[in-house]
Amino acid sequence: MREAIARAEVGDEQAGRDPTVNLLCERVAEMLGKEAAIFLPSGTMCNMIAVPLHCRPGEALVAHRSAHILTLEAGGPAAIAGVMTHAIDGERGMFTVDDISPFVQPSPKRHTVRTTLIEVEQTSNRGGGSIWPLEQIADIAELARASDTAMHMDGARLFNATITLGIAAHSYGQYFDTLWIDLSKGLGCPVGAVFAGSREMIDRAWVWKHRLGGAMRQAGIIAAAGIYAIDHNIARLKDDHANARRLANGLDAIEGVSFRVGEPETNLVFVNVDVPGLDAPELAESLGERGIRVGIEDERGLRMVTHLDVSAEDIEEAIAAVAEIVAAV
Ligand SMILES: *Cc1c(COP(=O)(O)O)cnc(C)c1O
Repeated sequence: MREAIARAEVGDEQAGRDPTVNLLCERVAEMLGKEAAIFLPSGTMCNMIAVPLHCRPGEALVAHRSAHILTLEAGGPAAIAGVMTHAIDGERGMFTVDDISPFVQPSPKRHTVRTTLIEVEQTSNRGGGSIWPLEQIADIAELARASDTAMHMDGARLFNATITLGIAAHSYGQYFDTLWIDLSKGLGCPVGAVFAGSREMIDRAWVWKHRLGGAMRQAGIIAAAGIYAIDHNIARLKDDHANARRLANGLDAIEGVSFRVGEPETNLVFVNVDVPGLDAPELAESLGERGIRVGIEDERGLRMVTHLDVSAEDIEEAIAAVAEIVAAV
């Protein structure tokens, strides 16, 4: 990837003259089954641009209560787009047509809040890396069409879903007006995300890219990493999933450690720590001292992510470390 970065042909990205950025956008648009795509510095900026593309101030979006767009983007929908949000409950970070239909009205009254966007996070991060079934998305898309509501996918981990199911990304893409992929998660790039939609949507997204300061210059050096990742780092996501299962099963066998949101479907492992005299932050700290970094959810919970820098041997080491730390309490 570093070599691809060094070799990248570049130009002025703002002027549409960076050939590497243009190639990356063409490739992602094709993979997602969309007319066009735009390169952005982060996934957060993709979500932030989607909201004003689909909603006017005073309108609403629906998303799962745990979704990144509601919980981890510094209130962007309200601050940047003046948009209200309906936080939906549902199993494993997902919702059904029944869950959202009270908020998605085919003919809103003059005084009600009109929902103009349904947001889906694939995979659901806090749902434990859970995969939205295609049929569930198709049903939601039908409701969206019937009520003139747009569909947007936060596809930060879309390829983790499609690799698991053995389907193409455009199978999901067909149901969404806009969707994006993150280059800097499982794909292992230093920076970047690609947002796709119709030509008209992408033309409008360009206005927001400039407005938010996301228009760049010789961005080909980072786009080259994205092209490399698409060619080399998608198929191998299944290794991360095998490692996540191995990790989860190993940890679950340790007294006092258990799954938080069920068995991992992809590369995210959430565990509860129920060990007298050892809370989750303390366990995380002890692991950190051994060079094993894990995320702290709360006093009782940890979040672990398997990725291309974590090997099967590292997983065995992590399981053994947790067992040792727990036994030593
Ligand atoms: C990481 C992440 C984002 C934001 O992506 P950045 O590139 O870090 O801004 C959005 N949604 C989900 C589900 C994520 O995991």
